[in-house]
Amino acid sequence: MFSPIVLDEQTALTFSLQQGLIDNCQICSCWESMFVVQDNSKKSKMIWKCPECKSRRSILHGSIFSDSNLRMNTILLIIYCWAKEFSCKSSSNECGVSGKTIGEIFSKI
Ligand SMILES: [Zn+2]
Repeated sequence: MFSPIVLDEQTALTFSLQQGLIDNCQICSCWESMFVVQDNSKKSKMIWKCPECKSRRSILHGSIFSDSNLRMNTILLIIYCWAKEFSCKSSSNECGVSGKTIGEIFSKI
């Protein structure tokens, strides 16, 4: 049985923030430090916001999750498989995604 962190997206997000898989600090293009604010219109319910120029960006900006259509918990499960040294084929079976996708994520880790 897998860890509860891979059960749902919100838990996966909280875990990733705590573990540093998502940056806990972002610098805006105006060089101001951004901070996390709640945004219920977003799937993650959180975004980065600049206190100076008010620009916003995804909470996942710059993270391993940013360019993927996969759910965060699926990506965490793939990382788990990588850490356990599962083959691409076994990981593909465990995670329910293609071997090609597994290969792409493995190459980023
Ligand atoms: Zn700014």
